[in-house]
Amino acid sequence: MDKKILRNDIILISALAIASGAGLTTVLLTRKTDNLVANVYLQTELIETIDLSKKEDKYYTVQGLHTEVKIHTVDGAIAIVESGCPHKDCIYTGYVSQTNRPIICAYNGISIVITSTQEGGADIVI
Ligand SMILES: [Zn+2]
Repeated sequence: MDKKILRNDIILISALAIASGAGLTTVLLTRKTDNLVANVYLQTELIETIDLSKKEDKYYTVQGLHTEVKIHTVDGAIAIVESGCPHKDCIYTGYVSQTNRPIICAYNGISIVITSTQEGGADIVI
């Protein structure tokens, strides 16, 4: 009887340890994606700063070198959805929510770079 209770306790403690470990990981990952900002450049000039942490479903239109470029943000991700460029590579890039994947429209001189306000900090604790 006592042995059984002890074993159940160990299982419970193990489960809690695993759950809290997973919870911690989730918190750290969430925190990083919650602090993302998309910087929109026209060549080297910063023309728009979009806070992705608000997770807004919103459209932005910026003037590129040749045509207007329509940008869409949704659920913390950003994409170019309309552009007058011939190859549409920027549109094919799709929705990006990572700091290491820029969206570039070479034709219009537009680039969108996502940065984390925590960059340089100790956000990679795992
Ligand atoms: Zn393009």
